Amino acid sequence: MLFGALEAGGTKMVCAIGNEQGEILKRSSIPTETPAVTMPKLAEFFSGKGIAALGIGCFGPIDLNRSSQTYGHITTTPKLAWKNYDICRFFRERLEIPVGFDTDVNGSMLGEATWGCAKGLESAVYITVGTGIGVGILADGKLLHGMLHPEGGHILMPVRSDDPYSGKCPYHKTCLEGLASGPALEARWGAPAKELAGRPEVWDLEAYYLAHAITNYIMILSPQKIILGGGVMHQTQLLGKIRSYVKDMIAGYLVTKELQDLDSYIVLPSLDDNQGIMGALKLGMDELERQNQAGVHS
Ligand code: ADP
Ligand code: ZN
Repeated sequence: MLFGALEAGGTKMVCAIGNEQGEILKRSSIPTETPAVTMPKLAEFFSGKGIAALGIGCFGPIDLNRSSQTYGHITTTPKLAWKNYDICRFFRERLEIPVGFDTDVNGSMLGEATWGCAKGLESAVYITVGTGIGVGILADGKLLHGMLHPEGGHILMPVRSDDPYSGKCPYHKTCLEGLASGPALEARWGAPAKELAGRPEVWDLEAYYLAHAITNYIMILSPQKIILGGGVMHQTQLLGKIRSYVKDMIAGYLVTKELQDLDSYIVLPSLDDNQGIMGALKLGMDELERQNQAGVHS
């Protein structure tokens, strides 16, 4: 059986056709312009391909509450053309197939949980550190949604005493995203993040903040694995420093087999940057199964 997958991002839309084994058979990338321009191109990609369902991992915030009138909408995004846009309905009507929907980071979390390094685990956290910081959470074997979806990039942070930066988040200033996203690095240090590779103090502070957040996720969620993706994590010097700070911050309070092997506990993604699109594929597969079980017809 074939499924469609869409990674809907603020700059590009990655769309793919794949199968139940998670194999991507065809893929394309389309720039994100306005819905009027972009959506017909996506519909054309997915049309006539014989897909049984479509899964979308989407930039947000989005409405994931199935009982809400605006379920399946992109909601308060700063990308104004997409604000309150009903992306799921468009595909349901054009393709007449079930449409699964979740956040982009929950999609990546699901990809790793289905085919990657979190396979078989009941609980894990996926953190993407890029233009923003997003956190996808697997709890009791399911993606966590709550009233909306977790926004673990916007947790409030204590600012380290040697850090004079006032923070980049327009809502919270010094939340995790405000202190540690790619744009925050650039604003604090005066150069794009990738040009700061040779400055150890940059990555020490970055690792400190990420470790602080990770320690809080560990204390709250007790995850069996932490996966770190996104452009900023291309700085390979970060991972070791993060593990070391996490060990210090836990301070011996928790003793588990996972925490005794931090090299296997805090890791980079395992699916060659396909975790997002593969997760979207699984969102489509899961939605088809859900509708079959419920006897719902799309
Ligand atoms: P997005 O979050 O927009 O989907 P990315 O995950 O690639 O895309 O994140 C982009 C951010 O990552 C930018 O702020 C950029 O400065 C930063 N970035 C990209 N590559 C690197 C790198 N090699 N080292 C450090 N930062 C990087
Ligand atoms: Zn914030």
